[in-house]
Amino acid sequence: MRIADLHCDVLSKLDRDSTLELTAPAGSGLDVTTGGLTQGSVGLQVFAIWVSPSMPRTPESALRQAELFHSKVLAAPGMRHVQCAADVEAVLAPDASETGALLALEGADSLRGEWWALRLLRRLGLRMLGLTWNEANWASDGIMEPRGGGLTGDGRKLVVECEALGILLDVSHLSERGFWEVAELAGRPFIASHSNAYAICPHPRNLSDGQIRALIAANGLVGLTFVPFFLHASRTAAIDDILRHAEHLCALGGAHHIAFGSDFDGIETYTRGLRTPADYGALVEALLKRFPEPLVRGWLSGHAKRFLTDNLG
Ligand SMILES: [Zn+2]
Repeated sequence: MRIADLHCDVLSKLDRDSTLELTAPAGSGLDVTTGGLTQGSVGLQVFAIWVSPSMPRTPESALRQAELFHSKVLAAPGMRHVQCAADVEAVLAPDASETGALLALEGADSLRGEWWALRLLRRLGLRMLGLTWNEANWASDGIMEPRGGGLTGDGRKLVVECEALGILLDVSHLSERGFWEVAELAGRPFIASHSNAYAICPHPRNLSDGQIRALIAANGLVGLTFVPFFLHASRTAAIDDILRHAEHLCALGGAHHIAFGSDFDGIETYTRGLRTPADYGALVEALLKRFPEPLVRGWLSGHAKRFLTDNLG
């Protein structure tokens, strides 16, 4: 079964340490490697640009990671740049030999309202954008910003610009008020690329039942994530915990809106048995024990394929 993974943070690691390579053997410093993606049957991996708060949040920082996406990810053997529906179909076909790579931006902080930088990133392949990381920026408050504000005027403009440019909106990390404003403003389906259910694990990064219902109503997607903090209140997690979140989404009517967004290379603690993309087989096995195969196929890549082919154009 081909897998689609809606979030990883390889690019910021490549930016911090120029000795890292996607083609290096497992255990060389990256969770996501070309070998691991192949071993785990990952047909499509979303690579997010994430500029840490300790780095200058400028267009240059984001562009440097976009360059690494081209020079270190797309240049690796067997990788295919995913920019349109035909690319998605090709890399998720059962007999596909290439691994698809889609460029995203996690938090618009570094754009600083410079619209040329957004348009340039779009030309470099950017097809998905989250307005914020955890804190507030020029576009909106993030989920950990205590005042809990929503979108600024420029943030509303960013939503409109992204839709005009064919950049999909990602609401993971966004403040709750920002989420509802995006839900109201968005003319197209949107996604939470790496978030779980608050009802199962009450962490602010997770989605309330109301938010999950809104994503379903918008024909969007929830990428369940393997971050232990967002899976279980004890902050340690096993594969079974991912299944509990999936079950909850099903109970809310979201069985056909579930996907996965691992957050590999963005985490320092791991779900037991899920250390790299090579371990996807263990998740597949656990899912098939509990859920019907057509549904599992949907979660692993069918729903992501539908969402991306419908909305990338
Ligand atoms: Zn994140």
